[in-house]
Amino acid sequence: MINTLICTASSTIREAMVCINENLLGTVFVLKDKKLVGVLTDGDLRRALLGGKSLETKVDDIIKNKTFTYGHYSEPHEALLGKITDKIKIIPLVNDQFELVDYFQFKQGIHFPVTSPSLSGNELKYLTDAFLSNWISSTGQYIIRFEKEFAQYCGVNYGVATSNGTTALHLALVALGIGPGDEVIIPDLTFAATINAVLYTGAIPVIVDVEEASWCICPQSIEKHLTPKTKAIIPVHLYGQPAEMDAIMKIAKKHNLFVVEDCAEAHGAEINGKKVGSFGHINCFSFFGNKIITTGEGGMCVTSDEGLNHKLRVFRDHGMNKERRYWHDYVGFNYRMTNLQAAIGCAQLERIAEMLDKRKTCEQMYKVGLNHFKSIEFQKCDIPGRLKVTWLVSFLLKGVSRDTVIANLKKNAIDARPFFFPLTKMEIYKQYGKACPNSEKLSQIGMNLPTYINHTETEKVIKVLNKIMQELP
Ligand SMILES: *Cc1c(COP(=O)(O)O)cnc(C)c1O
Repeated sequence: MINTLICTASSTIREAMVCINENLLGTVFVLKDKKLVGVLTDGDLRRALLGGKSLETKVDDIIKNKTFTYGHYSEPHEALLGKITDKIKIIPLVNDQFELVDYFQFKQGIHFPVTSPSLSGNELKYLTDAFLSNWISSTGQYIIRFEKEFAQYCGVNYGVATSNGTTALHLALVALGIGPGDEVIIPDLTFAATINAVLYTGAIPVIVDVEEASWCICPQSIEKHLTPKTKAIIPVHLYGQPAEMDAIMKIAKKHNLFVVEDCAEAHGAEINGKKVGSFGHINCFSFFGNKIITTGEGGMCVTSDEGLNHKLRVFRDHGMNKERRYWHDYVGFNYRMTNLQAAIGCAQLERIAEMLDKRKTCEQMYKVGLNHFKSIEFQKCDIPGRLKVTWLVSFLLKGVSRDTVIANLKKNAIDARPFFFPLTKMEIYKQYGKACPNSEKLSQIGMNLPTYINHTETEKVIKVLNKIMQELP
């Protein structure tokens, strides 16, 4: 119990204000003969002064007839949380004699984030090694190694590391020669980086609907939106689920289109035993802090085409000629990853199987712990030929309010996320597509749960979620 949270009924407004000024909690508890008689906030004091009281007025004078919220020290955590409102973030706790014994404070800080990086392997060792080698910029042994090993992991010939997943997508489109006058087909349900990368090139994104079952871009919708200007398709392996690549590659071949897989959420996912990232012409990964493996910020383009590998490198490195230094053949970019980031990436890649496994176990635990709720429909894991990975545990909530569930989780310091908004719902993108019914429906009822936290924490989230679901109207 901190002293600056307490004043007595005979204290003056000035003294109460000094307390609040020191405790930084915006609140002071008022005691009289050890017993709690009131709670004052900085707002109460301000209003009293504006209402004509002076700094020397006794607080006794302003707590009269004023109700206040308090709790009993033995009340369960959830009951206390129930007393927290937009205005009341801290409440006094009393014993049976109504003496102040403690206080309860609501902390905005989320205790169970949706995901957080795991850096418990060789990450620090390699990072230190890169640092001590003095190769901290964008050349060095870890860059070479990370590009090579990640490409190998995906089953392709080349990897070109980038500053993030968005620059990887932009770089891929540029290397494929996509620009003004071209159209690029993308799904309605994705993270905005997919469409932004298209817009950077000056090409027109064409937004199409997703499949109801896989939540990924729908091949039939792609075919419906082909025009003579169509140059490329960007399928997104959403929430770890591979898109229908066989059908998409068939369409691309027939119409002479490029395919850029957006694999930002699906490292290690497979289709008929082949890893995502090995189907399209250039395919892009993100290593942002919340992805399956991370370099902090980072990304990579992977390809099996030697010519495209060369182009990607030239465009990534300022468009500079690889033989003639400081001679520029193109308006390029600086989209490089640093050796420091790649060092972390190498250590993460050593553990990718372990991380995928842990995430999968986490999803399995949620499935077991929540399977009795008919309203919960987990992301499909039995689409023939497709092996999904768990990025964020994802499910649909049918017939109950998703937003209520998320809000109630938040009250218990558990972070949960609604699905992405459909791109066509947003003012800046809606000109690029018509309403997409599947995407719209999924976006309204889909949510992600904390994933890759330790199993004890997963159990706690399951327990809270069970309670929330049972108490839903
Ligand atoms: C995260 C993500 C990206 C962008 O990656 P950054 O590294 O954050 O730039 C692109 N597409 C999808 C689908 C993503 O989830």
